[in-house]
Amino acid sequence: MSEQDQKKLPGAAPDAPVHSAGAGEGTGGLAERYREALLPVFGSPQRILARGAGVRVWDTDGTEYLDLLGGIAVNALGHAHPAILSALTKQAETLGHVSNFFATAPQIELAEKLLTLAGAPAGSGVFFANSGSEANEAAFKIARRTGRPRILALSNSFHGRTMGALALTSKEAYRAPFEPLPGGVEFLEAGDERALAEALAPGDVAAVFAEPIQGEAGVRPLGGEYLRALRRLTRDHGTLLVLDEVQTGMGRTGHWFAHQAIEGLQPDVMTLAKGLGGGFPVGAVLSFGADVHDLLQPGQHGTTFGGNPLAAAAGLAVIGTLLEEGLLEHVRTVGAQVSADVLALEHPLITEVRGDGLLLGIGLAQPIAKQVAAEALEAGFILNAPDESTLRLAPPLIITSADLDTFVAALPDLLTAATADGEN
Ligand SMILES: *Cc1c(COP(=O)(O)O)cnc(C)c1O
Repeated sequence: MSEQDQKKLPGAAPDAPVHSAGAGEGTGGLAERYREALLPVFGSPQRILARGAGVRVWDTDGTEYLDLLGGIAVNALGHAHPAILSALTKQAETLGHVSNFFATAPQIELAEKLLTLAGAPAGSGVFFANSGSEANEAAFKIARRTGRPRILALSNSFHGRTMGALALTSKEAYRAPFEPLPGGVEFLEAGDERALAEALAPGDVAAVFAEPIQGEAGVRPLGGEYLRALRRLTRDHGTLLVLDEVQTGMGRTGHWFAHQAIEGLQPDVMTLAKGLGGGFPVGAVLSFGADVHDLLQPGQHGTTFGGNPLAAAAGLAVIGTLLEEGLLEHVRTVGAQVSADVLALEHPLITEVRGDGLLLGIGLAQPIAKQVAAEALEAGFILNAPDESTLRLAPPLIITSADLDTFVAALPDLLTAATADGEN
């Protein structure tokens, strides 16, 4: 692993402000400068990070952390992976950006690879964006182009922070300050087949948006039965099924895409980002089959950066490495192992482990997840609390069982410390 001091690329943004006391003090006043120079949307940063290698990062004080969050399911290959380094360097030496008046070979190759991995039929196609929100914006526009007025999304959904993606996001606290949002979106109770059938029955629904596992909601899988019902009922009513695999895609669950865990299930549209570029910002929309292909006509959508050759090179490096190193199987193995090990602690505060592969939510019996995450950070583990009673793990897909073991071994003490915090 390169010891060179890498300039960090931005990962995905946290979805809620993070609070922590005293982070980064004594590091040349960077925390203070952050407060002075950046808008306060993310709250105070927990630490200021200087360097990463593999599954570890170091802050500006030189403290080491095991990265169990991977920049929120982004750093699929960990930090400063040689494959991404060399792909980006080579591409930057050759051609760093062209407008979409032109195309480049890496862009075309990445589109082809994604379609192949998704098992997409003839007539399928890709649109590249730069983030998950943007990928969902494009999917939203595809849905509008069906001419049908209604769009359905699910309770506890998270599809991003731009106005269109926010219109598909259920959380009131995210939506309310920005109303009016684009109209026509209704929310259904996730898992309720009856409500779904009733909502689709009039035949005027353009699309249903769903995450196979709702990551931001606390790693809550929709479940095979409901996903199958979604597919069957949307097909029956000529409604598009849009699967948001921004968090669950690119090997995160031990499948290329989480929906592939279900035999024969294929969406009409799929959105990707997070792990796709391994830390380089890139998003994508895949449309499946000829019916969806021409909904967006030339000139109806666009982007300056989308499909940028650097982003495409990063995506190709991620896919190539996942394939060459057999990482999907690795993810299934170590993911199942760490889930079993956490449950085997038989700790009274641990109720369950949800999720699949290396997207895991540890359910807690008390609303102390934020305190546990803070204790974990102090102990040298980066993870987060998507809600009050869930700890989320989304580590680099290259993480070893040995590294995961150190976390499992530390977990009982972290829970004890967090409970003690609450009593003070
Ligand atoms: C993170 C996320 C998004 C938003 O992606 P950004 O890159 O932050 O815009 C959308 N959908 C899901 C499921 C996500 O996890």
